[in-house]
Amino acid sequence: MRASVASDPLFEGPGEMRALCRSFDWASTPLGPSTEWPQSLRTTTAILLASRNPMFLWWGPGLIQIYNDAYRPSFGAEGRHPRALGMPGRECWTDIWSTIGPQIEQVMTTGEATWHEDQYLPIERNGRLEDVWWTYSYSPVRDEDGHIAGTLVVCQETTQRVTSQREREQLLEERRQAEQSLRQSEARYRALFESLDAGLCVVEMIFNERDEPIDCRFIEVNPAFTRQTGLGDPSGKLRSELGRPWDEFWMQTYGRVALTGESIRVEAPTSANGWWYDVYAFRVGRSEERRVAVLFNDVTAARTASAERDRLLRALEVERSRLEYVFKQAPAFLAVLRGPEHVFALVNEAYCRLVGERELVGKPLVEALPEVVDQGFKQLLDEVLATGTPYVGREVSVRFSRTPDAEPDERFLDFVYLPLVEGDDERVGVIAHGTDVTEQVLARREVERLFDLEQHARTVVEEAYRLAEAANRAKSQFLAIMSHELRTPLNAIGGYAELLEMGIRGPITPEQREDIHRIQSSQRHLLGLINEVLNYARLETGTVSYDLDDVVVREALVAGESLVTPQARAKGLTLLTKDCPPTVVARADAEKLRQILVNLLSNAVKFTDSGGRVEMSCSQDAEHVRIRVRDTGIGIPADKLHVIFDPFVQVRGDLARRHEGTGLGLAISRDLARGMGGDLTVESTLREGSVFTVLLPRAVGTPS
Ligand code: ADP
Repeated sequence: MRASVASDPLFEGPGEMRALCRSFDWASTPLGPSTEWPQSLRTTTAILLASRNPMFLWWGPGLIQIYNDAYRPSFGAEGRHPRALGMPGRECWTDIWSTIGPQIEQVMTTGEATWHEDQYLPIERNGRLEDVWWTYSYSPVRDEDGHIAGTLVVCQETTQRVTSQREREQLLEERRQAEQSLRQSEARYRALFESLDAGLCVVEMIFNERDEPIDCRFIEVNPAFTRQTGLGDPSGKLRSELGRPWDEFWMQTYGRVALTGESIRVEAPTSANGWWYDVYAFRVGRSEERRVAVLFNDVTAARTASAERDRLLRALEVERSRLEYVFKQAPAFLAVLRGPEHVFALVNEAYCRLVGERELVGKPLVEALPEVVDQGFKQLLDEVLATGTPYVGREVSVRFSRTPDAEPDERFLDFVYLPLVEGDDERVGVIAHGTDVTEQVLARREVERLFDLEQHARTVVEEAYRLAEAANRAKSQFLAIMSHELRTPLNAIGGYAELLEMGIRGPITPEQREDIHRIQSSQRHLLGLINEVLNYARLETGTVSYDLDDVVVREALVAGESLVTPQARAKGLTLLTKDCPPTVVARADAEKLRQILVNLLSNAVKFTDSGGRVEMSCSQDAEHVRIRVRDTGIGIPADKLHVIFDPFVQVRGDLARRHEGTGLGLAISRDLARGMGGDLTVESTLREGSVFTVLLPRAVGTPS
């Protein structure tokens, strides 16, 4: 309740609080009208209202409050003021009474002033609980009787100072912490810097007036830098200069970083040694310092490894395409069939050719090659897939239909079915691999057929030969016996004819003598024939034995020559031994050789017309001796050359009829030559002459 009282000089003067006090109804408070207040209260109030120091007074048992203008702001904008004026303290400060109540109580009871510096007293003001600090003292105020009647509070709100000091302290603390963490991170950086595997250096780039980098100065380097570049001494201090011209590329790179502040990551080689560096360069410090930190790694080995890997990959690629080519072009067929249905997963060209071009991949066997199912191949595949045991087939017959309506075509295959295993030994399919051996099988069958035929023919021929041999032997025996039987009476004819001719049986007339001569001539001719037949028969029956010795060929030729000289002379032929050194020595039966030579010379004389020549010569090589009998006679037709050595062969023709003979001479001569390990051959030109060559083994150990 507010009463308008007569103005109290106590409240006169400027200020809001004085005005409030003037209008305040003090009579409604336990203090009563101000004019009736004890002097002590009035004096204290006067001092309080006049002071510019914040002051507050609790008076009387109810602790009724009075405060001054300086104190007013402490209540805040919308707070207890002006309600607090004349209000009992307990009601006003409910929020902090637990703190200040006992302090006031103590002052009021003991009379001792208190001092509180920067006391934290959070109060409600401005509509919220605010952190507020005060420096204040509670001083007892005594009344006229000397009793303590009130408590004067001289206070100073120090919130601002305290908070700003706190802020400062906090700032200081933060700074301290920041410094500490800086020191820690610096230490960490240092440790990192030292232990880094990457080379790290800080360089100051030096530019010319056109802003072109021309050099650099090392500010700092880590041990890895020294390790990787070989620059700097072991203590980590750098030699002042690089000692060689800067790599232009790196110079330009770092120059750009220093000038523009952009960071650069680059992998490049150094021209000095060709080593590769992975470099990260960034500007550090103030821009005008033009410092660049360079973090780099020697990646030479990695690059070489990756180059090697690239090379290997390329090689692998080549190998792969080669394999693919081989797989496709391989003469061997190859197919991969997967799963229990044997679905074609892969086939090469040879396989396609084998089965007749058709769609296979993605189809199961029964659908892709229906004709083979009944031929047992599906069961084989099932078995290999189920058991994992490979199957090897040799020349297995299989019939494929090359086109859908064509009759199945029989092929023969060498092949193997291999289980296809994936992952943990799981059988997922079968690999069929092999070759089409049809051509070989057919060819071999043909060969076998021919072989059988040949075998048959051979047995037939052998049988015929055996028969012929037997017949031949029988014939020879017959001839031998017959010749012997014929010779005896012929000799008798000769003997008796001679007796008659000598006149032992009485005188004979000239006509009888002439007849006797004809008998003798026929007897000699017949005897000669029989002798030759006998000779040949002996050879054929294998009853001839050879008395081998070293024979000086020249001597044999001279002996042979003397035997035919009379006939040659009679025919007016030149007969001579030419070119036969006495060193030519044959291993032969001298008598048989003589027989051959006489035969050849007789033929030569016989088949050479008068005025011609018959020459003998000899030669030898390491193993053989050759004796040649050459004539300039009628010669032998080419188609007869191979038969004249057969028995009883005489070249028919107008010329041959003029000559007598058995057709056995050459057959006997060749058999004799062969019997001594040699041979008899002929070369001849019709009407020009013939050359017969006797080949004999050379005598061992004779000089050449
Ligand atoms: P022949 O008793 O008939 O002489 P050969 O066996 O000695 O029997 O000779 C066989 C045939 O070879 C002769 O009949 C003759 O036609 C031919 N012949 C042999 N030697 C000569 C030769 N020097 N010149 C030409 N023909 C010859």
